[in-house]
Amino acid sequence: MNFHVLTLFPEMIQQGLGTSITGRAMDKGLISLNAVNIRDFSADKHNRVDDYPYGGGAGMVIQAEPVFKAFGYLANHIKMTKEASVSYEKPRVIYVTPQGSIFNQGMAKEFAKEDDLIFLCGHYEGIDERVLEMVVTDYISIGDYVLTGGELPAMVMIDAISRLIPGVLNNDVSSEFESLQDNLLEYPQYTRPEVFMGKKVPEVLLTGHHANIETWRREQSVLRTYERRPDLLENAELTENEREYLTRLIFQKNYNVY
Ligand code: SAM
Repeated sequence: MNFHVLTLFPEMIQQGLGTSITGRAMDKGLISLNAVNIRDFSADKHNRVDDYPYGGGAGMVIQAEPVFKAFGYLANHIKMTKEASVSYEKPRVIYVTPQGSIFNQGMAKEFAKEDDLIFLCGHYEGIDERVLEMVVTDYISIGDYVLTGGELPAMVMIDAISRLIPGVLNNDVSSEFESLQDNLLEYPQYTRPEVFMGKKVPEVLLTGHHANIETWRREQSVLRTYERRPDLLENAELTENEREYLTRLIFQKNYNVY
């Protein structure tokens, strides 16, 4: 997977993603990261890329032309790197914006199927709408709050997508059974020691009985999701037994019976 980022702060992206798991994935060639500085495409002698908003109002707006030129350069670069025999599909261009659909694990899975992804990061009051209309395919937010720039949202998304790419996590299974799989939160995890400040690891986890452990974990997932993110349960994939377990939980809560 090749990630491309159009940004005013390429060093932030490179430093942020160049360490730990994503950094190692780059070293192994499992992902690549190409951060393009929009400022390099400014026609202004002082390399300015922003100007006052038409109609007035606070803040500055990133101009259409440098973004359009940076995008053109990048799109051409991506095309040139493809072998002539490979049928070339235009990469999706994600504008990270608080006005977009909210990013989730399902979207991360969808994006992980792409060969190339382009992220466009805004700053100041955002980017001139005309160039967005011309190049953007997806408008994605990382949550209902406003950040100073799109670099952190792009990094959040690249991190979440990268860990779904085969080989990026040491143990491929560890991205399969985790929070938001089947619309459930992950069960609680424990490691040594067996007793910590008087608190014991749940007995079932010490038995080595895989079927019982699996049942316990699924029930804990249902319980945790019910307590912390009940909104997810509507679309959760539950077995008959798990549905009964959930019904019992709801009954206990409604009638205060424990
Ligand atoms: N004036 C814009 C608005 O009200 O929609 C907000 C601009 S914000 C200060 C600057 C840039 O940060 C945006 O262009 C966007 O790229 C990024 N950004 C801010 N919050 C974000 C969020 N929650 N998700 C994704 N990107 C965000």
